[in-house]
Amino acid sequence: MDPIVTKIHNWMENIVNNALMPGSKLHAFASPIIGFARGDDPLFLFLKEDIGPAFYWTPEDAFKSAFPGKKIQPEELSVIAWILPQTEHTRIAHGKETTMPCKEWSCARHYGEKVNEKLRRYVVNHFLKQKIEACAPVLLPEWSRAISDKYGFASSWSERHAAYSCGLGTFGLSDGLITSVGKAVRVGSVIVNKQFQPTPRDYTKHHQWCLYHAKGKCGVCIKRCPAGAISEKGHDKTKCKEYIRQVTALYVEQEQLGFKVNSCGLCQAKVPCEKINPTLRIKEEMKDKSY
Ligand code: SF4
Ligand code: SF4
Repeated sequence: MDPIVTKIHNWMENIVNNALMPGSKLHAFASPIIGFARGDDPLFLFLKEDIGPAFYWTPEDAFKSAFPGKKIQPEELSVIAWILPQTEHTRIAHGKETTMPCKEWSCARHYGEKVNEKLRRYVVNHFLKQKIEACAPVLLPEWSRAISDKYGFASSWSERHAAYSCGLGTFGLSDGLITSVGKAVRVGSVIVNKQFQPTPRDYTKHHQWCLYHAKGKCGVCIKRCPAGAISEKGHDKTKCKEYIRQVTALYVEQEQLGFKVNSCGLCQAKVPCEKINPTLRIKEEMKDKSY
């Protein structure tokens, strides 16, 4: 195991780094999982072409934004991505809600994302101290939101697509990333001028771990969404955004934290993919039945 994996685990175990809110004794996130991809993985070029050739970054594009003038070949770079699972405490509380996020979820969305941001800086600094260039694409000033002709709301670098490329999971009907520890997660990534062993991608299709796409059944997230933003056709980003901006963010301000937070994620809890890859469970059940 590369030392960076242990470093990330140790950093996340420390409540000082990973508190649900300042002063809380509860962790924001459970133990992370970490994956690697080569900078010249053809998937990155495919994503650029597919999402938006004019704005979407390959690892090389992002690295060159951070280190202009530095001569680099894509194969010299690696992407490191991590999954930060919501804690059991947060997942259980969130699963009881039907229209508004629980307070723990809103804290993980706000303070937890600050943990994720600090983790990105920690990993980048870990390499910079060794004179190895590294950057966190979403923290670069050049990172921006954009509109994809094909997918609507998008950005220069997607953490979920980075994690997908690093073998950490596939997408669900609701657009969330279903990982081996489920879909109730947050995601982060950095790019490093160093080669790592890539993590095998245990899938060939981008929706492979979603029960609806794999088996033609489930759709529990459709019922969980109070905004009607998920259907058998997928995730309506506009409806989702409107519900969050016009309903839940105001609720968080008035009833929970005193300021607006884009918190919802009801489609990530009390669903079969909340804390596992549900297609794996079906395989296991089928194996059991064959005995
Ligand atoms: S709840 Fe079911 S249909 Fe929705 S993303 Fe999860 S596995 Fe797919
Ligand atoms: S985040 Fe909320 S509004 Fe958006 S799809 Fe999920 S449940 Fe629906």
